[in-house]
Amino acid sequence: MTAVPIAISTSPPRAVRAAHTAAADEREMPVVGPLVDRYGRVHDDLRLSVTDRCNLRCVYCMPNEGMTFLPRAEILTFEEIVRVAAVARALGIRSVRLTGGEPLVRRGICDLVGRIAALGFDDLSMTTNGILLAPIAEGLAAAGLDRVNVSCDSLRADRFAAIRRRGELDVVLDAMAAAESAGLAPLKVNVVLLRGRNDDEILDFAAFARDTGRIVRFIEYMPLDADGAWDRDQLVPGQEVVDRIAASWPLEAVQQPDDPAPADRYRFSDGKGEIGVISTVTEPFCGTCNRLRLTADGAIRNCLFSDAEHPVRDLLRAGGTDEELAMVLRRAVWGKLPGHGINEPGFLRPRRSMSMIGG
Ligand code: SAM
Repeated sequence: MTAVPIAISTSPPRAVRAAHTAAADEREMPVVGPLVDRYGRVHDDLRLSVTDRCNLRCVYCMPNEGMTFLPRAEILTFEEIVRVAAVARALGIRSVRLTGGEPLVRRGICDLVGRIAALGFDDLSMTTNGILLAPIAEGLAAAGLDRVNVSCDSLRADRFAAIRRRGELDVVLDAMAAAESAGLAPLKVNVVLLRGRNDDEILDFAAFARDTGRIVRFIEYMPLDADGAWDRDQLVPGQEVVDRIAASWPLEAVQQPDDPAPADRYRFSDGKGEIGVISTVTEPFCGTCNRLRLTADGAIRNCLFSDAEHPVRDLLRAGGTDEELAMVLRRAVWGKLPGHGINEPGFLRPRRSMSMIGG
């Protein structure tokens, strides 16, 4: 299933956006067939956040101290997560990514992976910081996980420590090797670039991609940090990354224009590996967005940057039917706005930050 590309021009301020969302004409919403929004985008990718907790405190994500986490009773149980995943599967969701917070801090994660894998998705992956990955990689693969994305923002130990504030680079590099040995491949490496902090490592990461065969994806810093310190001057545009790498090693785009994947992919012209850039801010890809999210406390979100949430937890706990759950998912998708609006004058950052939504 492919999303239908649409042209995105402007996006109104939040107040107007909210009213617009509320006014979304549900009478025209399809109640059979795939999850589709009012702009023809078919949704077949679900991000499941299994916890809002994390064992790191990356500068672009969480404060060093004082982060408030959800009470355990508010977090969905495995049964509840699997139930939503099963309903989503029936509605045409093909790929699932487990995330958080840090998904590996959730106790029993292999059990959850096994239960979700049993639902029969085409692709089951996880985004992790890698700190707890090495000892559990075999177990995750045996449970049915297909692949992992490992976040790693520096290849220098001291800088890794400064950006991520906890954990060690060597542990993460060992985890990448362990994941590959376990068959969790292709392995992608997520790098959030911050101007003046790690953008001098762009070529080092490109060389790393060429040497290891791992797909390094450079992510633009988004206004989703819990500190609210984001500003545009700190992000490194994806195009700049491509230009800087191509000046050393020629690159060829490998992306189809209507590919819903967030990364623009490039292969090295000499055949030695691949990189990607995720230019969420400077080159939004909302027109082909096919993703929806379930937060750890049971809200469906149709966009990282929208505050509109469609809760399912109370419905799950009150004995709601699969049909009722399906309607919540349909409404969440139907109400999706054409674009995230970050570049519009009235943009307000969402109330929940990245780790609370599930990145
Ligand atoms: N804990 C896991 C990890 O570190 O990969 C999964 C959750 S984390 C929220 C998912 C991804 O979001 C990571 O690659 C992380 O670097 C990225 N991320 C977090 N905050 C971000 C921000 N403000 N802008 C861009 N990417 C961000």
